[in-house]
Amino acid sequence: MSELATLALDVGGTKIAAGLIGADGTLLYTATRPTRGDQGPEVVWAVVVELLGDVLAKAGGRVGAVGIGSAGPIDVNAGTVNPINIPGWRGFALRDRVAAAVPGVPVRLGGDGVCMALGEHRYGAGRGTRSMLGMVVSTGVGGGLVLDGAPFHGRTGNAGHVGHVVVDADGEPCRCGGRGCVETISSGPAMVRWALANGWTPETAEADAKALAAAAEAGDPVARRAFRRGTDALAAMIASVAAVCDLDLVVIGGGVAKSGALLFDPLRAALSEHARLDFLTGLHVVPAELGGDAGLVGAAALATLV
Ligand SMILES: [Zn+2]
Repeated sequence: MSELATLALDVGGTKIAAGLIGADGTLLYTATRPTRGDQGPEVVWAVVVELLGDVLAKAGGRVGAVGIGSAGPIDVNAGTVNPINIPGWRGFALRDRVAAAVPGVPVRLGGDGVCMALGEHRYGAGRGTRSMLGMVVSTGVGGGLVLDGAPFHGRTGNAGHVGHVVVDADGEPCRCGGRGCVETISSGPAMVRWALANGWTPETAEADAKALAAAAEAGDPVARRAFRRGTDALAAMIASVAAVCDLDLVVIGGGVAKSGALLFDPLRAALSEHARLDFLTGLHVVPAELGGDAGLVGAAALATLV
């Protein structure tokens, strides 16, 4: 008798994805809808309900478990979420609501960064490693930890928020209320902002991270410096986290990571400057393998952990 598939939900600020995942981690079906986070809490919940119905129908009405990865902050103990980009969801009882909508099966909630890391650890670039940081560099910098082979949630479910590691104590204010967090230097919009302030003139109408990467590839000196500055801050953060957690691998996904060698070459060079302790010399930094699906397969893995 085959095991029932797992229903996974990945709640983000711009889109919500749902999927059906087989026992071997295969993504059997996936659907995505815009979050509509500006339209009030029940509108966003209606998006979730629609996705749950869609995936359940594909599963013939039966799944073995439900795993939820959500943008943070979250509270895994209470089962509630407070995603920064969904202003209507404050202390929103996501786990219990999903459990009521899909009765009779276990429902587990984790941070989206933890789910991404777990997905890459089980089925992607982190296979076979013991302790890894999975991170995403895009409009923000996020992450999650798998330590000694198990997802590490921390006290409230928010461990691995590496975007808010302070790399410049006198730096710019961060949206978290602090200052000098790596996100204020290394996120796509932060690098674009710095480049524009330092004389970069984009050739396209859209001054985004993709245009900045293209300019850097073409040899634009300011664009290259913006990437260098962003990757140096990322390297400082990675070296710090690796030293604290004794990591063997860092897996990086997200839009900015798609710039490939432009990000990874200077990042590895900077990391060799920052990570000098003997136990850090074997640390590898590699691109993610699962793309946007890591969160879904990781949420499913979380739901079926024994
Ligand atoms: Zn911050």
